[in-house]
Amino acid sequence: MSEKIFIGVAWPYANGSLHLGQIAGAYLPPDIFARYHRTKGNEVLMVSGSDQHGTPITIKAEQEGKKPGEIAARYHRQFLESWQKLGISFDLFTTTGTENHAKVTQDIFLTLLDRGYIFKDTLSQPYCPNCKRFLADRYIEGTCPYCGSPGARGDQCETCGKPLSPAELIEPRCRICGTTPVFRDTEHFFLKLSAFNDRLLDWVKQQTHWRPNVLNFSLRYLEEGLKDRAITRDIDWGVAIPVAGFEDKRIYVWFEAVIGYLSAAKEWAASSGNGGKWRQFWQNSDTKSYYFIGKDNIPFHTLIWPAMLMGYGDNLNLPYDVPANEFLTIEGRKLSTSQNWAVWLLDYLDKYDPDPLRYLLSINMPETSDTDFSWREFVRRNNDELVATYGNLVHRVLTFVYRNFDGRVPDPGEFDAQDKAILSGASKALEAVDGLLYGCHFREAIRAAMAVAQESNRYLDDKSPWKVIKENRQAAATSLYVALHVIANLKTMLYPFLPFSSQKVHEYLGFEGSVEKAGWKWQ
Ligand SMILES: [Zn+2]
Ligand SMILES: [Zn+2]
Repeated sequence: MSEKIFIGVAWPYANGSLHLGQIAGAYLPPDIFARYHRTKGNEVLMVSGSDQHGTPITIKAEQEGKKPGEIAARYHRQFLESWQKLGISFDLFTTTGTENHAKVTQDIFLTLLDRGYIFKDTLSQPYCPNCKRFLADRYIEGTCPYCGSPGARGDQCETCGKPLSPAELIEPRCRICGTTPVFRDTEHFFLKLSAFNDRLLDWVKQQTHWRPNVLNFSLRYLEEGLKDRAITRDIDWGVAIPVAGFEDKRIYVWFEAVIGYLSAAKEWAASSGNGGKWRQFWQNSDTKSYYFIGKDNIPFHTLIWPAMLMGYGDNLNLPYDVPANEFLTIEGRKLSTSQNWAVWLLDYLDKYDPDPLRYLLSINMPETSDTDFSWREFVRRNNDELVATYGNLVHRVLTFVYRNFDGRVPDPGEFDAQDKAILSGASKALEAVDGLLYGCHFREAIRAAMAVAQESNRYLDDKSPWKVIKENRQAAATSLYVALHVIANLKTMLYPFLPFSSQKVHEYLGFEGSVEKAGWKWQ
């Protein structure tokens, strides 16, 4: 029976180019997962979009003397180009700047307000007397009270991942001019997260299939007790607050960006011509919802978004799994876009094919701990593994069959024990990789598939059809037949990771259509 799989992917801020850390953390894993499920014949809806709001965009716009919308549009185009070139197969990649998103956000806002989960209160906010403005979140910086990191922002400490409020910062200063801010009272709306603490705790405790880091991180928060959080800001860029008297303030980005998962599903349904279709992925209790994010985003997806969904009701599915990844370091150092210590995705794609990068980031995925990217490792893995193991296997079998058997699959003779062993090993691997991908164990899955390629090379070295063919054409035909079968299934196992080369192998082998259509079955 086919399953329904909803895949929500972190919304990148449209204020800068994508780098490999983001790809390894949040964008490649969901694509692997989506391609796997589509090949299994399951119905997948994978959505995300550019986060166009928030201070990251307005700060960038001010730095460049542009309008926030221009900045957002520029990077949105770049994101679309990146997905296309890297093969990240979104069903919809939209933006938070759509009318639909504002409508869905305001509906959730008003419903939560009506139910008492959003309330009005006075907030003491940092105000820069020099710039004569309130300093929302990223406009203020200081030292993190939890880990002592000096560059913590008013909304979150990037070093330890803790969400922060501006008043918690030690030695705060205005990001624009460096002045020490004063605190002034301003009226805002708050999300009553404290009201959900017990329900969330009960719910999170049941999620024993979550990755340990995600589960423990979330439980720690709940055991400390969630604090109510302001969800509006003194800024003029963002979704309007649907309440009179708040025209000069906006709904803040952390509240509305997560709503994008729902609004994007609605947009996707509307554009498919069946406006109610989103319900299959949101209100069907058999649908499993996965959220792919980096570890800095965990509390927003395991606590805040579920709290909003619980409060809103309407029978919307809570996350089934939030397989958050750890970080990718670059050449042994923590990645930093502000210090330009990053590998930019489009720079890579200008020079190289997508699959070698997808390979390295998969086999070295930061699933349970941080992993490192280095160019040396990239070259080594590409040459020694992808080319020497998988590429060489495919190349030598196909060229030999092409030259000596007229490009047709040779008729096999009787299988010996070695033939049977390699075939049954590959068939077991197809099942094992299936199970690993189903459970979001991507690194183990690609390693299991690559082990089949290694085994097959050893098998061919033993059988040496290129030598044997001179005295025993039938024996050579049998081992080539076996090798072709293994390759036909290997390309299925590797397809989620290496979609471009797997599709080529699929066609070289004479299969029609796409790998996805052919399905996850022994061939
Ligand atoms: Zn910190
Ligand atoms: Zn200032």
